[in-house]
Amino acid sequence: MARVYNFSAGPSMLPEDVLKTAAAEMLEYGETGQSVMEMSHRSKEYQAIFDETEANLREIMNIPENYEVLFLQGGASTQFAMIPLNLMTKNGKADYIITGQWATKAYKEAARYGAAREVASSKDKTFSYIPKTTAADFDSEADYVHICMNNTIYGTKYHTLPDTGDVPLVADISSCILSEPIDVSKFGLLYAGAQKNVAPAGVTIVIIRKDLIGNAMDITPTMLKYDTHSENGSMFNTPPCYAIYIAGLTFKWIKKMGGLEVMKEINEKKARILYDFLDSSKLFKGTVVPEDRSLMNVPFVTGSDELDAKFVAEAKKAGFVNLKGHRSVGGMRASIYNAMPVEGVEKLVEFMKKFEEENA
Ligand SMILES: *Cc1c(COP(=O)(O)O)cnc(C)c1O
Repeated sequence: MARVYNFSAGPSMLPEDVLKTAAAEMLEYGETGQSVMEMSHRSKEYQAIFDETEANLREIMNIPENYEVLFLQGGASTQFAMIPLNLMTKNGKADYIITGQWATKAYKEAARYGAAREVASSKDKTFSYIPKTTAADFDSEADYVHICMNNTIYGTKYHTLPDTGDVPLVADISSCILSEPIDVSKFGLLYAGAQKNVAPAGVTIVIIRKDLIGNAMDITPTMLKYDTHSENGSMFNTPPCYAIYIAGLTFKWIKKMGGLEVMKEINEKKARILYDFLDSSKLFKGTVVPEDRSLMNVPFVTGSDELDAKFVAEAKKAGFVNLKGHRSVGGMRASIYNAMPVEGVEKLVEFMKKFEEENA
């Protein structure tokens, strides 16, 4: 068996340690005589897995006591509706910063339920930068301000949070959760689909300040109310049990690695290797302004569609897969989440150098 270096934007690589533990525990978890997939979510054994998973997430992200952690379904995309349904309820207004496709989708969904306002956008330059804002740009009566913290498709990220004054900040952290420390107390709500940096698809993590729970619009379906899930320990109905279990293994792996400070160092090292090469290459170039570059998703181009396609095909043959850029940007994109080892990025750069020599 030869595992490839998988640069997919999501679902993406999982740490080999996590997969090995899951494999070893596949037929029997502990002394239970069954796999985690087959367990009742109401069993004592599963509750122990769930509780440990939440406790470890709270520990590694340093989540304050006044925040609830929810493990939900429906992906980050369901949060695009849950957020306005639950939060856009005091003044019926919310501010959105448009930094790409996901932010746009979140904004359009919110506009169905209230007065969503586009505060700033980087659409003019294919979302290759993060628009600058000041506190004065935001409506002090907005129920929240929504940002997409790391833009998976375009490869930008917020290095400094917008100053929203007293208005709660809500952030989609699907593609940067656990990549570096984050000050949870600066946010009203954080959410992330798991399939980028945590677990297989199926579980969505929501971290919400407790005072924001319980104000949903009357029309909100029961399953889309945060209080439904917070009052039932994320077990109002069957949770995505197995995905939560894998998330738990990933959290243990991060703890073993040394926590989020260490993840950040490793991620910065990987990103530096790739960006330094892109900045010095005569053939390849990055598409994002240097000050807003993502640590997780690195889009780049040669300038020729033909050469891009040739590169993607040859890379695949050499064991570097899923490097084709998103259909809306073209070119290439290397997603280098936590599970991508430094060696994978070093080898990719070696391969790019060779390709450059052969095709200059
Ligand atoms: C992948 C992604 C989404 C969509 O997630 P789903 O879980 O598929 O709904 C939303 N936002 C960001 C930033 C993403 O990377």
